[in-house]
Amino acid sequence: MGSAALATLARRGHSVLGLEQFTAGHVRGSSHGESRIIRQAYFEHPDYVPLLLRAYALWDALSEQVPLPLIERTGGLMLGSPASETVQGSIRSAEQWGLRHEVLDAAEIRRRFPAFRPQADEVAVYEAEAGYVRPEAGILAHLLLALTAGAEAHFEDPVTGVHASAGRVLVETKAGGQYRARRAILSLGAWSSRLLDDWTLPLSVERQVLTWIQPPRIDPFLLSRFPVYVWELPGRVHIYGIPTLDQRTVKGSIHHQGQLTTADALDRTVAPSEVERYLDLVTPKIPDLGQQVSRTSACMYTNTPDGHFAVGMHPHHPELVVAAGFSGHGYKFSPVMGEILADLATEGGTDYPIGFLNPGRFSPEHPTPA
Ligand SMILES: Cc1cc2nc3c(=O)[nH]c(=O)nc-3n(C[C@H](O)[C@H](O)[C@H](O)COP(=O)(O)OP(=O)(O)OC[C@H]3O[C@@H](n4cnc5c(N)ncnc54)[C@H](O)[C@@H]3O)c2cc1C
Repeated sequence: MGSAALATLARRGHSVLGLEQFTAGHVRGSSHGESRIIRQAYFEHPDYVPLLLRAYALWDALSEQVPLPLIERTGGLMLGSPASETVQGSIRSAEQWGLRHEVLDAAEIRRRFPAFRPQADEVAVYEAEAGYVRPEAGILAHLLLALTAGAEAHFEDPVTGVHASAGRVLVETKAGGQYRARRAILSLGAWSSRLLDDWTLPLSVERQVLTWIQPPRIDPFLLSRFPVYVWELPGRVHIYGIPTLDQRTVKGSIHHQGQLTTADALDRTVAPSEVERYLDLVTPKIPDLGQQVSRTSACMYTNTPDGHFAVGMHPHHPELVVAAGFSGHGYKFSPVMGEILADLATEGGTDYPIGFLNPGRFSPEHPTPA
């Protein structure tokens, strides 16, 4: 989110500085692991759809500007029982916004996507526009555009203090830097609670484990055959996965259900039991995957109580913009978030319909206009 905001502000001609505590495209936050699902028939809420349509246009535009593979449309399956939130919510968003989609029964899923073994009573919403984006490349692309357009960016320069008053912001860094600006965007991922000053958002950080399995045969998992998927299992457990990117391994995980942690306390060592839980869930559904684990990685979700993002003006300080709580589904939005954050920082508002993301909803005594 930070690199996208930096690129947008620089392109619009503003004088802008990005401060990052680690290196460019590091693997210690929430935006690593090679791929992120992108889709339009959004089961989480139809209000995201206009933002998604803009995000798709911006991903395509970004792909024209930098020589990096950023977005791949593989098609996507949202699977579950007909009454599941994943299926119902996807249909609702697709119907409300007139998005192209198909509802497939179990026989049709098996015929068209043989790697998937749904039960007879399971269905799927298939969306041809779904696919994945590449988070590390996306960050580098945004940084490249930002720097080319005149932005400044400092890495390994942690921010230690943000003080806002009377239309000015003073930002201090560990290295002793002091920067004065008219506005600051606080886009801190899992570290958000630390710098939000006298106002604390109710955020929780959840550990997530990514697993790459090496199947005996890779053919069923090539992107021409294997769509991205989210599968809602009984008990509202979700597993998801992405076709092979390296012609050898297939990434997948459980969505949520992770241990609560903090950004600084995150244990990056993955225990065998964590992987086993994922294998137990995925193997009956996609048996061709096998059980040979190639590698794992730990990542973090920063969750709000309702699972929707917290994006808007800080309720106490009109100088500060907050972009937090992306709740495990934010990355696909990053280019449009760049525009939204740039609007908020320069205009104090945006034409994008983001009222439902208003961070003030968590502090009703200080509701903020979005
Ligand atoms: C395993 C996993 C799978 C996911 N799958 C999907 C998916 O399929 N589709 C999807 O859309 N989303 C997905 N997400 C969610 C998505 O990746 C996140 O919502 C998104 O990356 C969050 O971006 P961010 O900019 O808020 O956080 P980050 O990328 O973590 O960026 C915050 C940055 O702020 C820096 N920072 C923090 N504090 C300071 C400080 N004091 N000084 C300087 N710098 C600081 C951090 O170092 C970090 O670089 C997934 C996330 C995970 C972990």
